[in-house]
Amino acid sequence: MRTKLLFNCKQTSSLADRFHEKQLGLLDKWRVRIHLNICDSCKNYYVQSELLKVELGRFIANLQDNPSQKLSDNKKKEIELAVLKDLGISN
Ligand SMILES: [Zn+2]
Repeated sequence: MRTKLLFNCKQTSSLADRFHEKQLGLLDKWRVRIHLNICDSCKNYYVQSELLKVELGRFIANLQDNPSQKLSDNKKKEIELAVLKDLGISN
């Protein structure tokens, strides 16, 4: 079976999260990189994913430094509604 040289969006998005990890081989890294250079949707997904990782890391570090800090129930509900709205599940 012949392997396609370029990844499609589905393949790219599933591998983009592992782009910096060593478990992604050189050829797959190259395929992801090429796709990110030609596809704005996947590039935006990748950038947003990286930003989310950074912010999540900061949030966890802050929680570890200040374990007494927790989100209020109102803030949790606000975040939940924003995520559901963003996903188009709620309005
Ligand atoms: Zn794409």
